[in-house]
Amino acid sequence: MPNVEAGAVAYLGLGGNIGDPVAHMAEALNRVDDRADCRVIAVSRLYRTPPWGKTDQDWFFNSAAEIRTTLDPLSLLRLCLEIERSMKRVRIERWGPRTIDLDLLAYGDLRMASDELTVPHPRMTERAFVLLPLADLTPDLVIAERSISAWLADVDAAGIEVADADRGWWRRV
Ligand code: AMP
Repeated sequence: MPNVEAGAVAYLGLGGNIGDPVAHMAEALNRVDDRADCRVIAVSRLYRTPPWGKTDQDWFFNSAAEIRTTLDPLSLLRLCLEIERSMKRVRIERWGPRTIDLDLLAYGDLRMASDELTVPHPRMTERAFVLLPLADLTPDLVIAERSISAWLADVDAAGIEVADADRGWWRRV
């Protein structure tokens, strides 16, 4: 039995805008939490976000989670991709509709870049829909030499709403 308490702290970013995105995100978090080698420590509030990139599509829901895990970074990424795949993410176009998007935002203070995995997630500091939920969990986390709250002050968070302020939203679905 892996000792999850001795594992690394990692942050996941979640989003989706087709079907029932909240149920998909809740299922993804429960799948992570059900594993012996991962534990969900805290989940952000639930946010509702206007579509970015390609704007003629439904609003997104976004959230973030703090987990502890004994998985190494690549195994954690592969778990995220496997959960996405098994939930039949529709990938017709970049920025297009998706049932679930599960990104590895940060893993301890690791910095790495390979073909398969870049940590911290390279675009997270530009995206209010990632930074806002992450700031619920860890506003002082330093990414690329600035805190999450400092990055957040520089991005446009217009239109993003709190859809559920109860951080237990993912356990009820
Ligand atoms: P996307 O569909 O835009 O979320 O991109 C998924 C692809 O990005 C996967 O094939 C991953 O191998 C790659 N990737 C690189 N770094 C990360 C990361 N930190 N989190 C999630 N995917 C990543």
